[in-house]
Amino acid sequence: MENIKFKALEVREVDGEFKREIIKKEINDLPQGELIVEVKYSSLNYKDALSASGNRGVTKKYPHTPGIDAAGVVVEDESGKYQKGDKVIVTGHDFGMNTAGGFEKYIRVPSQWAVRLPANLSLKESMIYGTAGFTAALSIYKLLAKDKSKEDILVTGASGGVGSFACAILAKLGYKVTAVTGKTGARYYFNNLGVKNIISRKKAADNSSKMLLEKKWDGVIDTVGGNILSTAIKSTKYGGIVTCCGNAASANLDLNVYPFILRGVSLIGIDSVKCSQALKQKLWKKIASEWKLEQIDEFSQEIRLEDLNKQIDKMLAGNAKGRFVVKL
Ligand code: NDP
Repeated sequence: MENIKFKALEVREVDGEFKREIIKKEINDLPQGELIVEVKYSSLNYKDALSASGNRGVTKKYPHTPGIDAAGVVVEDESGKYQKGDKVIVTGHDFGMNTAGGFEKYIRVPSQWAVRLPANLSLKESMIYGTAGFTAALSIYKLLAKDKSKEDILVTGASGGVGSFACAILAKLGYKVTAVTGKTGARYYFNNLGVKNIISRKKAADNSSKMLLEKKWDGVIDTVGGNILSTAIKSTKYGGIVTCCGNAASANLDLNVYPFILRGVSLIGIDSVKCSQALKQKLWKKIASEWKLEQIDEFSQEIRLEDLNKQIDKMLAGNAKGRFVVKL
C-alpha cells in the first residue's frame, strides 16, 4: 500500500526524562504484522498513562506510541482473514506495550490480535468499553460460568473502569450489587450504575485476625487486591466464586486456606491480555447484545490526540474520572 503519512503520539526519553509529542509517522515506520487498520477511536487506560510516562514494567523500549485499545477499519490483511473495510477491535497481547499502539491513525499488528466489531456496537462504543469493559465482561463470564443463580455480588474498586462496567452489567442482569468504593459520596453515580449498597474501603478491609467472616457474598468481582480482597474471600458464602483482576490497592494477598477448604470458595484469576481470540469474540458479542448498557455514553468523554498529554497527567495524579475515548 501507499506509504501514507499520519499523526501519532510518541513518547521519547530525553536526558532521563520522558517527553510526549505529536509527530508525523509513515506506514513504513509501523511494526511487522499482516493487518493494517485505519484507527477511528482509541481509549485511555491507566496502563497507557504508565507507558506514556516511562514505566518500564509496561514499556521497555522508547521511542514508543502507547494505546492498548484501538477500533477501526481494515485497510489491508495479508492473512486473508479480514477484507478491506471490515470493522475490527484490537486489544491485548503486546499491543500498546512494546508494540506501537492505538494513539496513531494507522496500526499494523498480527491479524490474530483483532476481533470483528460485533453487530449492534459502534466503533466509538467499543472504545468506551475498551480493555476495562472487556475485563469486566471476562470477570462476569467467569463468575457466572458454572452457576448463574447468585444474588448478592460484591464489586471492589467500583468507581474505576473495570468496577463501573462490572456493577452496571451485573445490575442489568438482575443481581444485587454492593460496591466497595473510596467515593462513598458519589451516590448519584452508583445509583446510575444500578448499585444497591455502598461500602467504604475502610469497612471492606477487616483488620481482625479472624480466619473466616460472616457469610455475605455469592460472588465477588475484585479489581483492587490486598486486604479488601482477602476480606471479601473470607466473607464469601459456601461455593461462591471470587474473581481477581487487579492490584489498585495492593498486589499482596494475606490469607488462610479455610475459605477454600471449609466453604468451597473458588478464586479465579482474570487475564484479558492473553485471552483467546475465540473467547474475546464471544464476549464482545455479549457486550453488544444481552449485556449492552443503555447509559454507555455517560461513562465517557471524547478527546483528541492533542488532548492526551494533559489527560495522561491527570490520570497519573488520580484526578481522572470515567473513560476517555480518543477520536483519531
Ligand atoms: P481504575 O484506575 O479506573 O480504577 C481502579 C479503582 O480502584 C479506583 O477507581 C478506585 O475505586 C479503586 N482504588 C484506587 N486506589 C485504591 C486503593 N489504594 N485502595 C482501594 N481501592 C483503590 O483502574 P481499572 O478499573 O481500569 O483497573 C482496575 C485494576 O485492574 C487495575 O489494577 C488494573 O491494572 C487491572 N486491570 C487488569 C486487567 C487484566 O487483564 N487482569 C485488565 C485491565 C485492568 P474507588 O474509589 O471506587 O474505590
